[in-house]
Amino acid sequence: MSKINVTRSSMPDFEEYCNEIRELWDSRWLTNMGVKHKQLQADLEQYLGVDKTVLYTNGHLALEHLLAALQLPVGGEVITTPFTFVSTTHAIVRNGLTPVFCDVNEVDYTIDASKIEALITDKTCAIVPVHVYGNLCDVEAIDRIAKKHGLPVVYDAAHAFGVKKNGAGVATFGTASMFSFHATKVYNTIEGGAVCTADAALADKLEKFKNFGITGQETCEYIGGNAKMSEFQAAMGLCNLRHLDGEIAKRRHAVELYRQRLGGVDGIRLCAEQDGVAHNYAYFPVVFDGFKRTRDEIFAKLGENGIVARKYFYPLTSSFECYQNLPTAAPDKTPVAKYIADRVLTLPLYADLSDEDVNRICDIILE
Ligand SMILES: *Cc1c(COP(=O)(O)O)cnc(C)c1O
Repeated sequence: MSKINVTRSSMPDFEEYCNEIRELWDSRWLTNMGVKHKQLQADLEQYLGVDKTVLYTNGHLALEHLLAALQLPVGGEVITTPFTFVSTTHAIVRNGLTPVFCDVNEVDYTIDASKIEALITDKTCAIVPVHVYGNLCDVEAIDRIAKKHGLPVVYDAAHAFGVKKNGAGVATFGTASMFSFHATKVYNTIEGGAVCTADAALADKLEKFKNFGITGQETCEYIGGNAKMSEFQAAMGLCNLRHLDGEIAKRRHAVELYRQRLGGVDGIRLCAEQDGVAHNYAYFPVVFDGFKRTRDEIFAKLGENGIVARKYFYPLTSSFECYQNLPTAAPDKTPVAKYIADRVLTLPLYADLSDEDVNRICDIILE
């Protein structure tokens, strides 16, 4: 019985990567915005349909720097979701800002836009929604609220690389978006990330932020950090981008089979496909709500059979130990998020997942 992991990184052929990095041996230019970095930046701007892309060594630092570059007032409140990877909340708090947790909706588990306005105070300085599982937030409603109150919107789009709505790339919404290119994501540069924005001044500032805030040979205008993407990461990104559409098509095939097997089963809730949205099939979340077995029982049973599913996202970020003393972190205030977190499981999903494996996973769940 072979083991099935929750994910498996997409990689090019060994030879393709070797060819891509060959010139680095000649040039000895390994990092600091070299040829691979510049090429990847241009290719991603084209692929994503965005004006500016700033590459980072990971998604988390991209988000942290992005919030820093907006120069939000210390102690300001940021409306966000607790139904996310802990990185989103950490990036806010590490900037001296206070996360104010808004509940998610029952349909796609993104932030419930109808509950945002009630949370706005005179301290609110930004909105940080998350396109969970690659599901697009209600970008129009969020945009209306943000404009009305003069707030920047920073999307955590770590899950949503390549997603489009009516032809518009996911990173064209809001003030700016962060992507993660971590090995476990749909598109990877081993470790990596980016900020995309139409604001050229913001992009330029982030280019400086990621390189210590250095602005010239003898000038340093910002207290920046070090979060540059290396040439080897960029080279992996160039290779993986060539094969991405094929990888997404294969993921889609696996998702369609999952849907055939698990759709319409009593007590199993799947996310509906969103109107006009081209998805990236990043994750396959299943909510066990009134099923004959609980989420935890299914999780354990799959584990006994060598199948690793993931309780993603459980617990909510607002219930982590490190946020115990944060007065705004009250999981009871986001009942939908709590309900889903207690019942959700993401099933194994990657491009090379075979029909046989999907069927085996579904057989065990339905048995
Ligand atoms: C992966 C992820 C991040 C962090 O990205 P890294 O590249 O791993 O630093 C942030 N937010 C969400 C929702 C993620 O899934």
